[in-house]
Amino acid sequence: MTTEIHSLHHRLLAWFRTHQRPLPWRGGYDPYHVWVAEIMGQQTQMDRVVSYFRRWIQAFPHIKSLAEAPEDDVLKLWEGLGYYHRARNLHACAQKLMAEHHGRLPADRNALLRLPGIGPYTANAIASIAFNQDYPVLDANVRRVFCRLFDVGDPPRQATGYLQRQARLLLPAGRARDWNQALMELGALVCTPRRPTCAACPISSQCEAREQGTVAVRPVPAGRQRTVTIVMATGVIVANGKIFIQKRLPTDVWPNLWEFPGGRLLAGEEPCAAMQREVLEETGFHLRQIRKLATVRHSYTIYRVTLHGFAALLAGETTIPVHLPAAQEYRWVRPADLDRYAFPAGHRQLVARLAKSQAFQELLRRTDKATRR
Ligand code: SF4
Repeated sequence: MTTEIHSLHHRLLAWFRTHQRPLPWRGGYDPYHVWVAEIMGQQTQMDRVVSYFRRWIQAFPHIKSLAEAPEDDVLKLWEGLGYYHRARNLHACAQKLMAEHHGRLPADRNALLRLPGIGPYTANAIASIAFNQDYPVLDANVRRVFCRLFDVGDPPRQATGYLQRQARLLLPAGRARDWNQALMELGALVCTPRRPTCAACPISSQCEAREQGTVAVRPVPAGRQRTVTIVMATGVIVANGKIFIQKRLPTDVWPNLWEFPGGRLLAGEEPCAAMQREVLEETGFHLRQIRKLATVRHSYTIYRVTLHGFAALLAGETTIPVHLPAAQEYRWVRPADLDRYAFPAGHRQLVARLAKSQAFQELLRRTDKATRR
């Protein structure tokens, strides 16, 4: 058994030395870089992580600059990655590191666990990859590799205890940084979810699923997840060449992001009528010359959202005399300035459509002319 484990270590670590991707946080393994990459990598494809990571480090080159940044700037840089609580936790964590750890990540797993947004998985990843301490990691790639390597007959979630024991057992002392990354890299590049390239796998001779002919059915799929369909309508309101946006409440889904006013359709309600009702409820605005802009779709967690977007002119004053019931503040902004604000995915898709929408451009021209008269 020991010889087999040594052989596994030797083969996989040798493969990792020559096949690892040149990711920007590899090399120096700056703990701040490792931490940001780990948080970004949760629920995000690696090629997207790399481009976001580069922009992030350029804007916030160290923990101090992240701690001192306005939250709007942090959310804007995160825009498109989704799961915004990750960005907020990075921000809050940077502030705590400045206040309690001299602006550095502690090289201690228990201290890491006391920081915002750092749970057991992330603490192990930082402790092993940034500080080369002997902690295993079990992300989706590693689970898949293990389910095949040990030919596990249960779905990964049900087999968690067994997989964790195997992960601890296999960890080579003093090599956690390379070993954990080698497993993750193997899952990302070779032992992929569909059609793994077993012929190119450095550990194929020790893979039980390959020996048993069960690779195609490992990991065993979990039961189908329930999904929830949501239909919403929103209004891009134009006045004086500017567009109305509002900042979501801190207690909302997507807290502190910017949006156009709108909400869910009631039973039997048409999207346009729903949009007008929601705009009236949220802002007190009446609208005229309403035009369909686009219907966009996006998903998050179990939700499948269809968002009907409309553009319209404001009928009346641009000020809101009363307290906003569904937002913490509002602004009128030029279309070109929308890119400075962070929007949830569906609203960001609508922003991207504005420049190409003849209906919207026509409405904008009318208000611009009216403003100049
Ligand atoms: S032999 Fe195939 S299934 Fe087994 S670990 Fe390698 S790539 Fe994965």
